[in-house]
Amino acid sequence: MIREIKRHIRTVEDFPKPGISFKDITPLLDDGPALHQAIDALSSVVEHLHYDRVVCAEARGFVFGTALAYSMKKGLILARKPNKLPGRTISAEYDLEYGTDALEAHLDSIPPGTRVLVADDLLATGGTARAMCQLVENAGGVVAGAAFMIELGYLEGRKLLEPYEVVSLINYK
Ligand code: 5GP
Repeated sequence: MIREIKRHIRTVEDFPKPGISFKDITPLLDDGPALHQAIDALSSVVEHLHYDRVVCAEARGFVFGTALAYSMKKGLILARKPNKLPGRTISAEYDLEYGTDALEAHLDSIPPGTRVLVADDLLATGGTARAMCQLVENAGGVVAGAAFMIELGYLEGRKLLEPYEVVSLINYK
């Protein structure tokens, strides 16, 4: 089944810039049965974790985070780029190759003690996921784990997420 899902992930060399080997998930989104299978498989690898809500970052993270929250009947927290959310927010910065960026979430989406699963389409260096963990903890929530459709194991992003439990469906080692 994993092989079937992997068949729908396209590797595009030198995108978005030279030297980057990009994993394009749009062929998976194009195929209804394969997408369904992928969400079911992702749901099954997080079944043992205990959480109330899923947090995901725009833009591709919204796709899998929303589907996972729906499938597991959990709430959904949107982690957005700065100044997109209208309510009182909490923010966490993360490093980019040049400079920094930030993610924000509504403070009242993470009441103290809420157990939150971090979800994204792909784990690369781990910066984005770590920022989501920081958002959760800064608000007083608890990170229940982190789940990814794809992990670029050779970038060792899960080291940045220690000591959280990290699960992924497909690992490119
Ligand atoms: P990180 O912060 O772990 O370095 O990068 C992960 C974030 O960047 C994810 O939100 C993901 O959507 C995006 N990303 C980085 N590389 C890729 C890639 O090769 N394919 C896809 N689909 N997304 C990527």
